[in-house]
Amino acid sequence: MERDMVASKPHAVLVASPGMGHIIPMVELGKRLLTHHSFHVTIFVVTTDSATTTSQILRQTSNLSSLNIVHVPPIDVSNKLPSNPPLAVRIKLTMLESLPFLRSSVTSNNKFPPPSALIVDIFGLQALPMARDLGMLTYVYFATSAWFSAVTVYFSDTDKKIMETHAESREPLSIPGCTPVRFGDTLEPFLSPGEAMYESYLGSAKQIVAADGILMNTWQDLEPAATKALRENGVLGRFTKGEVYAVGPLVRSAEKKPDGGKKVGVLQWLDEQPAESVIYVSFGSGGTMSANQMMEVALGLELSQQRFVWVVRPPCEDDSSGAFFDVASGVDAAMSYLPEGFVKRTEEMGVVVPMWAPQAEILQHPATGGFVTHCGWNSVLESVRNGVPMVAWPLYAEQKMNAFMVSEELGVAVRVAEEGGGVVGRKQVAEVVRRVMVDEEGVGMRKKVKELKLSGEKALCMFGSSHHSLCEMRKECEVHVQ
Ligand code: UDP
Repeated sequence: MERDMVASKPHAVLVASPGMGHIIPMVELGKRLLTHHSFHVTIFVVTTDSATTTSQILRQTSNLSSLNIVHVPPIDVSNKLPSNPPLAVRIKLTMLESLPFLRSSVTSNNKFPPPSALIVDIFGLQALPMARDLGMLTYVYFATSAWFSAVTVYFSDTDKKIMETHAESREPLSIPGCTPVRFGDTLEPFLSPGEAMYESYLGSAKQIVAADGILMNTWQDLEPAATKALRENGVLGRFTKGEVYAVGPLVRSAEKKPDGGKKVGVLQWLDEQPAESVIYVSFGSGGTMSANQMMEVALGLELSQQRFVWVVRPPCEDDSSGAFFDVASGVDAAMSYLPEGFVKRTEEMGVVVPMWAPQAEILQHPATGGFVTHCGWNSVLESVRNGVPMVAWPLYAEQKMNAFMVSEELGVAVRVAEEGGGVVGRKQVAEVVRRVMVDEEGVGMRKKVKELKLSGEKALCMFGSSHHSLCEMRKECEVHVQ
């Protein structure tokens, strides 16, 4: 009987691409499929040269005991790439090179029934033909907003002339059923014809819409217009072969220590601070800033006179190296860029954490009252899930769209304004921090973000929209198994 049950469950294979910002949401989706939707789940984690760091962080940050996680042997693709390739190119090549391992593992699996579905993110599209070959359903998981998903879906079938006009005029991109996207907030190098990445992104967009389904880490009530546009045939749904499912907000929550757990380091320090009195400052899993900018952030935090926790990394002038850092070797380097005497002067009011912090635990902590974030989508969702208002400080990729959404549409963040010379000065840093932590404006944002928190919880509960979406997706997989 039990054997039959095991056999009748659909088996989903998930492939997580390199970078913690890609791995974490895939693992969370895997957990959800396993614990709430009775799937067998296998997650392949693809890493690069910093595989040790990834495994260490994964071990520290996820309760993985019940998940079947397979680490793809690390692949170093550096000798096949030009020097300083764009990050996306490096990730895609790593994914391509991992396909033979993936295929042989999927076909030789004898732990679970043959997999009925493959779920990849935007960097794992090269695995889709393999899945079709093996008779599996194909799903693409956008670990981003419905709004950004809508840009990609729209782009897949849009006349090149429209994109050219958009790039030339710098007018907002009008996407049917959605808020127009400001030119500077779109992925300029990807969406502008003539730019190196244009054709490659177009190819990806076409592969995405041809999948059997699209999953998005968002929820209907957060983005009603974009979700509706993507699902409706008359609007954007006509571009997609399969159904579009909003399944979020899927974010990591703090691990419960079996013994109640004695806290150490930053979490112990947070225990000693008053409720909602600390601003957490972090720019994602790979985000780095220039040495000058680090200096201004430090002095701005000091000027704000607010308690803080700040995750620091050694400076980097572009986005190409950040996603693949090595935690151990970066610690001393990161600290050496702080202003002279900063740690000593601020020891009563803040904690500097080099390289990597337990973000889920920090945002969930009652002492945390604000988050200066680069607006990576996972960070945005983690902030919302914990009812924490934000200072939106986007760096690259789709982060400017996310920043627009949280500040101008949802009203749960203050956005940092660009300043001449590309460095945000200490005065502005202090001002935005105080607007969220001290001013009346912050009180309003806090109230709104707590409402969104409840809305996200509702989406995931038994009768919620996101739970329902994954039930529908499971039905497709069940039918496919039979
Ligand atoms: N993260 C963390 N500690 C850190 C930095 C990041 O746990 O010091 C986690 C964070 O909680 C989030 C992910 O890494 O889940 C970063 O994803 P996000 O989409 O915010 O940004 P990305 O790294 O993709 O730019």
